[in-house]
Amino acid sequence: MLPAQMRPLILLTNDDGIQGGGLLALAEAMAEIGEVVVYAPDRNNSGVSHHVTLDRPLRIQPIRPGWFQVDGRPADCVYLAVHEHLKRRPSLVVSGINAGPNLSYDVHYSGTVGAAYEAALMGFPAIAVSLLGPSPFDFRPAARFAKDLAQTVLERGLPRDLILNVNVPQGEPTGFQWTFLGHRLFSHSVAKDEDPRGEPYYWVGGEAAPPMRIDGSDTHAVAEGRISVTPLSLDWTHQAALQGKMAAWSVSGKTPQMAVDPKMRPKEPPF
Ligand code: MN
Repeated sequence: MLPAQMRPLILLTNDDGIQGGGLLALAEAMAEIGEVVVYAPDRNNSGVSHHVTLDRPLRIQPIRPGWFQVDGRPADCVYLAVHEHLKRRPSLVVSGINAGPNLSYDVHYSGTVGAAYEAALMGFPAIAVSLLGPSPFDFRPAARFAKDLAQTVLERGLPRDLILNVNVPQGEPTGFQWTFLGHRLFSHSVAKDEDPRGEPYYWVGGEAAPPMRIDGSDTHAVAEGRISVTPLSLDWTHQAALQGKMAAWSVSGKTPQMAVDPKMRPKEPPF
């Protein structure tokens, strides 16, 4: 095996917190292909998306060799590791393995995905990995696939304007599939009750309805027992809208100043 400094540096984080079993399984698998460093939140941060902490100081605490606990969000962990702590630049950033899916438009809420986005914004190849429930979770098949995908990314590279969002079904997957985001609806319920002082409180977040069966979608792939890999774009611009009827709207009687030419857009962000 190559000395640690010559092996690719792989930065890991998650949103379930540094105690998360998925993070440990991921670290063990990734140690086979690189030097692993872990910067992870000190507690569960599920649902924090790409939150960065701008309103208070952050602290980094060493836990054991190569493992650091941060009292911030997953994106803070990536930011601090890269800009402050690490002696060399990572070759790859992997976030997970999340205990539970990050499918469909849920990716907008996911702290697991948010950390990968932070890494990609800095110009690093980034992968988010999630394992479908329910518990108990056996993270080993997901960790194996994450390692194999990571190896492929290290060899081939990734376009710099995307991240890979991986969802692994429970049990032994039958293979993997490239996918687009599916449609998974929620009941959007609000639980209302009273606290011991008689004040009302509210608990948001509803139950997931069964996903629509759309061939090629992430939700369908995992329902069929396959690992889903979705490339997610950094650029949220809706290109079709810029080329469609909306681009000719007049607002308050005024027509738009300039039509958008798609050729004006750089292919990759300027890192
Ligand atoms: Mn989570």
